[in-house]
Amino acid sequence: MPELPEVETIARGLAKRVTGDVIESVWLGSHPQPLKSTAREIAAVLDGSRIVEVRRMGKHIVFDLERVERAPSPAKSRESKKPRKGSRANPEILSPTQAQWIVHLGMTGRLQVCEPQNEVLKHTHAILKLASGRELRFVDPRRFGRLSVAIGGFDAGGIEPLEAGEEAFVAMFRGRKTPIKSALLNQKLLRGVGNIYADESLFRTGIRPRRRASTINRDQFSRLLASVKEVLNEAIVAGGSSISDYVDADGEEGFFQLQHRVYGREGEPCLICKTPIKRIVIAGRSSHYCPKCQK
Ligand SMILES: [Zn+2]
Repeated sequence: MPELPEVETIARGLAKRVTGDVIESVWLGSHPQPLKSTAREIAAVLDGSRIVEVRRMGKHIVFDLERVERAPSPAKSRESKKPRKGSRANPEILSPTQAQWIVHLGMTGRLQVCEPQNEVLKHTHAILKLASGRELRFVDPRRFGRLSVAIGGFDAGGIEPLEAGEEAFVAMFRGRKTPIKSALLNQKLLRGVGNIYADESLFRTGIRPRRRASTINRDQFSRLLASVKEVLNEAIVAGGSSISDYVDADGEEGFFQLQHRVYGREGEPCLICKTPIKRIVIAGRSSHYCPKCQK
């Protein structure tokens, strides 16, 4: 499952490749699961829009779109080039001047930028033909990924961990009776911090995952926020060198791994004090910590 740093890396890679390009036509597959908005709405918003920006919000990839004025075009000839059967909406139904296309990759979703002659992989659910001649395709074998459109601003919920200020961070967590680990994973609070990054941040701050948020003082919260940002930024930097692995035509997933200090190291010696790392389960998620370094 791609986590925040991977999604950031993917969004940056896509931004380099497709910013400024215009979506000339849209094909959507017949499986309903990947579509969170209706096929008609998605096609109507995408068709004839320019990609102004590609960015990450939480674990979502957001394409900011603006409508391009086009002369009446021979839509029928484009339609006849559809690669497969599927739904295609009438773009007249709804054509806002500004909108967003939102992609959540789920477990196995991928976005490919490729040439039209590249084989259409099995489990391709969307194909956007771009004015540059390339195609942007959404492929997702397990179909937990989601495509939607938003008009008038997409709200991913929660606050962005990399942009969170100390005041907001402390106010959000202080007084909560839940384990700090659960609070970090609560997407309504912080947007997009996953299991691995929560464990790694708590280790760097010296706080046990099961500790109640209400027992953590302001200084510790301040250091925890710094650790969350540090861990996420390190992972983003590590991923920056492998952007092409995410979005290239053949799309073998090559998610980089941050050098984990506790996550997945149960029984192995702590890198600081050599005490064996412990694993416990909190709210159904594995949590790893050093019983000596973390209090
Ligand atoms: Zn230790």
